[in-house]
Amino acid sequence: MSFSPQQKMNFLRCSIVLFLIYIALKISLCVPPGIPSSLKALPIAGHFDFEHVHHAAKDFGNTYSFLPLAVLHPKSASDIATTVKHIWHMGPGSRLTVAARGHGHSLQGQAQAHRGVVINMESLPGSKMQVHTGNFPYVDVSGGDLWINILHETLKHGLAPKSWTDYLHLTVGGTLSNAGISGQAFRHGPQISNVHQLEVVTGKGEVMRCSEKQNSDLFYSVLGGLGQFGIITRARILLEPAPKMVKWIRVLYTDFATFARDQERLISVKSRFDYIEGFVMINRTGLLNNWRSSFNPKDPVQASQFKSDGRTLFCLELAKYFNPEEIAVVNEEVTSSLSQLNHIPSTLFQSEVPYIEFLDRVHISEIKLRSEGLWEVPHPWLNLLIPRSKIHSFAQQVFGNILTNTSNGPILIYPVNKSKWDNRTSAVLPEEDVFYLVAFLTSAVPCSRGSDGIEHILSLNRRILEGGFGVKQYLPHYSTKGEWRSHFGPQWEAFVQRKSTYDPLAILAPGQRIFQKATPFSL
Ligand code: FAD
Repeated sequence: MSFSPQQKMNFLRCSIVLFLIYIALKISLCVPPGIPSSLKALPIAGHFDFEHVHHAAKDFGNTYSFLPLAVLHPKSASDIATTVKHIWHMGPGSRLTVAARGHGHSLQGQAQAHRGVVINMESLPGSKMQVHTGNFPYVDVSGGDLWINILHETLKHGLAPKSWTDYLHLTVGGTLSNAGISGQAFRHGPQISNVHQLEVVTGKGEVMRCSEKQNSDLFYSVLGGLGQFGIITRARILLEPAPKMVKWIRVLYTDFATFARDQERLISVKSRFDYIEGFVMINRTGLLNNWRSSFNPKDPVQASQFKSDGRTLFCLELAKYFNPEEIAVVNEEVTSSLSQLNHIPSTLFQSEVPYIEFLDRVHISEIKLRSEGLWEVPHPWLNLLIPRSKIHSFAQQVFGNILTNTSNGPILIYPVNKSKWDNRTSAVLPEEDVFYLVAFLTSAVPCSRGSDGIEHILSLNRRILEGGFGVKQYLPHYSTKGEWRSHFGPQWEAFVQRKSTYDPLAILAPGQRIFQKATPFSL
């Protein structure tokens, strides 16, 4: 059969068009054919799921959704290493990326991987949690373990980790990739200051042990490293003797300067307290009545006469750990410490609760919110670290001005000591010795266009950020390289250098949107 020159031309054109469509499809799908079967063929003890992947495209923030190609349910660190190594060997051409997913409590898709592989860290059993008692107790855990389970296990030995987050249904890998901050951080530092050793799968698929002494650069890169350098498969967490009970105290202030002065004094002296936090309430009435179910007023008559009258109030929250036999001494110490504070006297509220109930306090709210259908809503949270020298102007500009009520969710505010943080980690902090964590923990009403809708709350967040104030975002979220560069500031070059050492193809944690996997196509 012979073709005319015209037919040959048409055939050529057609082939070129088909080829271009093929390339375009290849790019748009980002999944060269054969990838699912090559993953399926990997010699692993766990398994890949290519169908039930929708839950991996969701997180607590409820605003970002990227569907992965597959979810890996690993049975060991070696399953993770085999998978990452396979993708590493595919080179940049595969465009396949890998996101470790802890409990999926990220806010903006940080644990998601568009058309990539999400690793369900919670199915990584590791070996059983091993608690080591003695003078320097510690526990060896899996990167996918929830902190609540670590608490239950260590309490069996009368021990517990030193540093916490407010909410314990988060994974070890998830919080160590950020920092892990709560009211104990002023004394013990964040969770990343309370880890001795890690086992990590790097972006080349190597399984590496690291600590201050062994592969120390990898160790400090991974801590606070936003998942960029390796997947944490095991961690050794420092422990301390666990108390049985907690004295939990709340007092109120109307003046921010007095509130902040007391907070800073409490974190600077050899504090008698084990936990120091605070929160802001704007335009709330009937406030103290809400507390009565869990706190007792020191002076019920005076407390009943206190009226918030829509004022902005600052609540200092303190906790003192104790065992029942120490109660007399503890009461004396607490009374003496409280007498040095300058709060409104009628607003002293106290409660005594078991240690576990105190630490797991947010879970009670979770159960309630879930039952009302208010947990799985959009959460446009904003978490900031603000240097001490700027906190007063920040408070003045934001509380009562940009924000005229706190009906969309609580605002936490408390200072921490930078000396308790290790500057070799990847965590990004303000310049000064003391800085405040300010957390706007807002919930939006789905589809609302009003002041409780996501657009309005995001616009308030933008206004808060516009002020500058030398803030660094905690759980940072940016869309451009320029923004990331200015977030890291002088640490940027080191961060990029570490990335090129441990994950040169940028396979890991694509949901952070800091680096993009290299593209081989040059059309
Ligand atoms: P995910 O959201 O699943 O992952 C977070 C990031 O870490 C992603 O980039 C992911 O790829 C990476 N990652 C996950 N596992 C690993 C691993 N094993 N190795 C390497 N990278 C990994 N934070 C605080 O510091 N203090 C608080 O008090 C606090 N309270 C919170 C309360 C609530 C209700 C919620 C929802 C969050 C809170 N957070 C707090 C924030 C929380 O620490 C982060 O959102 C954390 O990332 C969530 O942990 P996760 O296990 O769900 O991780």
